[in-house]
Amino acid sequence: MSKFESSFIGILGGTFDPIHYGHLRIAEEIVEAVGLREMHFVPAGRPCLRYTPMASPQHRTAMVRAAIQNNPGFILDERETRRSGPSYSVESLREFKQEMGKNITLCFVMGADAFIKLTEWHSWRELFRLCHVIIAARPGHALATSHDILPQELREECAQRWVSNASSLECTSSGLIFVAPTTLLDISATTIRVRISAKRSVRYLLPDTVLDYIETNHLYSGEE
Ligand code: ATP
Repeated sequence: MSKFESSFIGILGGTFDPIHYGHLRIAEEIVEAVGLREMHFVPAGRPCLRYTPMASPQHRTAMVRAAIQNNPGFILDERETRRSGPSYSVESLREFKQEMGKNITLCFVMGADAFIKLTEWHSWRELFRLCHVIIAARPGHALATSHDILPQELREECAQRWVSNASSLECTSSGLIFVAPTTLLDISATTIRVRISAKRSVRYLLPDTVLDYIETNHLYSGEE
């Protein structure tokens, strides 16, 4: 099946404070490995489980737009930054499901660091009713080789859900988990923010378009 005929759609939620090549590369590789028709980038408005983002939702959204502008398969979705109140991924997935119809299979993408903390998420078990979960390995997180590091509650919920081939995801429209064989890139938004505030280079960790935006708007330097 060509990727244009695929009924599989990827969703990559994140704070994107700022977006970087770690995000873009896992999106690109997962589109290819799973055969997704497109990947939707969903910047969180008010993330519930972490610090308040340094950049405003408007800036974080603009940086995602700048990063993906030349890739027609990457789509910016602003629903969470437009929503008042906290950002719940489950709520967004419910909306995607309703808007896109029954024939679409949603694949929610998470880094291994985020997946390990899944039980802290609002209505986390419902995720498996709404979508498949695609995990990207992340340096420093051993999930790809062992499930033993998962909290017991999560390990039990996931026990029958793991698949080792992307093609197995076609058996059903939700509830399976696939660890995608993505390139390990040890890049984080935290490192980028720290480097910028220390006036160190972040070139080649994120697209030039995003770097230009950060410099023009004096983000993360302590001057904004
Ligand atoms: P921060 O350092 O501020 O915590 P981050 O770099 O983890 O940010 P997020 O926007 O929080 O970026 O990440 C969005 C999603 O992308 C999460 O599921 C996260 O695990 C994943 N992700 C981010 N960077 C990478 C990376 N280098 N490799 C694999 N997954 C990543």
